Amino acid sequence: MAADIPRRVTVSQPRVRCRFCGKGRHPREFIGDPRVAPCWECYQWHIAALTVLAGQLPPGCQGPCQRTWDQLREETPEENVRMFVHPKDGIYQLLCQECSDAYERKRLDLYAGTPYGWRKKLAGAK
Ligand SMILES: [Zn+2]
Ligand SMILES: [Zn+2]
Repeated sequence: MAADIPRRVTVSQPRVRCRFCGKGRHPREFIGDPRVAPCWECYQWHIAALTVLAGQLPPGCQGPCQRTWDQLREETPEENVRMFVHPKDGIYQLLCQECSDAYERKRLDLYAGTPYGWRKKLAGAK
């Protein structure tokens, strides 16, 4: 009888998409309700951004480039490394110049039409 054949069932872990970084995470990897709270990694970056605002060196870039502070510093030996702290739904993100520029172009809803967006000549800026 067909019922004697063992059947393999894959039980997938429940994954929840972090609304800040977009990564799929286990619900326990969030600092609170995943519908509103960031995942631990985003929260760690938020704390890092706060310490940078308080004058500490950044650990690196949180953006897609994922470069460490040492890498960022090596790439601009002649100049100061510019880092950008972007508020995002109540937490901060810490981005390098390149990732910050890319993020701003994706978030014209936030920056276009502002004096800042106008200065940076963001597309759609009034
Ligand atoms: Zn996250
Ligand atoms: Zn970056």
